[in-house]
Amino acid sequence: MAPPQEPTPTELRQRYRIERERRVRPDGARQYRGTDAEFGHYGVDPYVGEAAEREPVHDAVDVAVVGGGFGGLLAGARIRQQGVERVRIIEKGGDFGGTWYWNRYPGIHCDIESHVYLPLLDETGYVPEWKYAPGEEIRRHAMRVAQHFDLYPDALFSTAATSLRWDEASEKWIVTTDRGDAFRATYVVTSTGTLSEPKLPRIPGIEDFRGHTLHTSRWDYAYTGGGPDGGLTRLSDKRVGVVGTGATGVQVIPMLAEDAGHVYVFQRTPSSVDVRDNRPTTAADVSADHEGWARERRDNFLRIVSGEEAERDLVADGWTSSAGLLEKLLPSFRRCGDRESFESAYEAADAAKMNELRARVEQIVADQDTAEKLKPWYRYACKRPTFSDLYYPAFNRDNVTLIDTADTHGIERVTENGVVVGDTTYELDCLIFATGFSVGVSGIHSGKLPAHGRDGVQLRDAWAQHGPHTLHGFTSSGFPNLIQMGSLQNASSVNFTHILDEQAVHAAALIAAAEAQDALIEPSHEAEDAWRATLAEDAPDHEWFHAECTPGYYNGEGRGRPNGPTAYPHGAFAFHELLKRWREESMAEALRPRASREA
Ligand code: NDP
Repeated sequence: MAPPQEPTPTELRQRYRIERERRVRPDGARQYRGTDAEFGHYGVDPYVGEAAEREPVHDAVDVAVVGGGFGGLLAGARIRQQGVERVRIIEKGGDFGGTWYWNRYPGIHCDIESHVYLPLLDETGYVPEWKYAPGEEIRRHAMRVAQHFDLYPDALFSTAATSLRWDEASEKWIVTTDRGDAFRATYVVTSTGTLSEPKLPRIPGIEDFRGHTLHTSRWDYAYTGGGPDGGLTRLSDKRVGVVGTGATGVQVIPMLAEDAGHVYVFQRTPSSVDVRDNRPTTAADVSADHEGWARERRDNFLRIVSGEEAERDLVADGWTSSAGLLEKLLPSFRRCGDRESFESAYEAADAAKMNELRARVEQIVADQDTAEKLKPWYRYACKRPTFSDLYYPAFNRDNVTLIDTADTHGIERVTENGVVVGDTTYELDCLIFATGFSVGVSGIHSGKLPAHGRDGVQLRDAWAQHGPHTLHGFTSSGFPNLIQMGSLQNASSVNFTHILDEQAVHAAALIAAAEAQDALIEPSHEAEDAWRATLAEDAPDHEWFHAECTPGYYNGEGRGRPNGPTAYPHGAFAFHELLKRWREESMAEALRPRASREA
């Protein structure tokens, strides 16, 4: 039999447009809501229950770090390395780990190679057991880092920072929390994460469902039985619905398929699911025999996924082999040479990869109708690419049914007994939301964690008129000794812990310099303006790509991304080089004398 003909570029473009139109909704990001209120169990930490009583603290520390995920931990570790004594991390969860503390759903793994994802491997001497680490190994590593850098004694767990206020007289921050704490800190570092606010679709009737509900970031093992490795035996007689087939859905669905009575997968947009090939770490995988091996490997990965030249590909996986196609997401992406031939070559490479991924579905999924529904019809990386060798085989099981909800823009209604799509009601005992997070919303930008700087001005208000004003994304005039971590006016990468580590090194260097010179960290307006000009100069136009993509959080749910340059235009690797040079040559730009010293 002749092999099926591959679609022409015009046919593909047409198909992608049709598939996008099937999914774009007029309400864009407003189709989502938070997870609190009537989903009562979201208010309580499922891993420690109600927080233990403790006395509020009213002391003074050198540095307060808001957030105990890898960003906060890295800040703590790098600041400790500078010899700073009192570092207090404030964390909502009952322990360190951030997203890895909250997300413990069955099947959870990191989709980036553990040897480059887990930070501080050189420093802690730890070699990950698996190429792609399970969540529990990652969470244990977070705790290892905290122990190694002695970050437990001053930490405040099950505690949310509620306000930051600059006190001009003492030139310190006053930090308050929801546990009645009010303490002083010479410096504040914020690292509140990008995947910390779970979201639910605003589906009519969602509150009426009488069965059990949960969001994947708050798994309820008391209900399902088992643990992150599976064994969800209490679901054996249950009809389980899963909403969402993103990176989380792809990991959790095969585990549910193993144990649940029946699994109904409500899919709106299929993920692209590439080969995973996970395996235990071997000596051949990682040359952990010399100092700095992890840093070397991590730098090599960042080089490749940032579109830089690299002599070797140490990680050699799905991310690095498709790095060329990821480049269109990078600020540094440039169409080079003759535009027309460049674009058609690029489009052809994209089509080849996506054809390969669609063929993979056909090879694995036996039922043709199901296979058709699982095929991703969009350009590579319109959605975060996913990797699994378990996902497609799950659809060959009799107890798994795929329901395509694209034509109804998602599930339409929830009733007391189940979920409605088109003319059919699917009766369920349990409904699981793998519907993701409000990505990228930082508390001090949204006002949820008000930061009042000089003259009581709140950061959100200071930026309301002209947008964010920072030097390198970290510091802002009017907000002395406040250092923000995150990707705003900074840089990003698929391996975000690497970005966070570079940021932590930078934050620690700023603090060390301020201490050495008895100065405040506060850039001038001029330095901020110059940084904005750098970001604007050469700012790439990604809209051509996102405008053709199926909706999701990468492209503002199909409506385009916020205007204005938000990242360094030459990519993460170049940004880190720039920061290093700046620390060596121009750090004084961000320091000013203390008023107390001037008086
Ligand atoms: P996503 O936002 O990626 O996915 C949400 C899913 O819910 C999508 O499939 C979405 O469909 C679906 N959905 C939302 N509303 C409806 C509705 N009304 N009806 C039907 N379906 C609906 O969330 P994830 O938790 O999967 O992933 C979030 C991010 O977390 C990832 O992009 C990644 O950065 C990170 N992550 C990382 C992992 C790692 O290994 N490092 C593992 C897991 C997550 P649609 O696509 O049509 O909007």
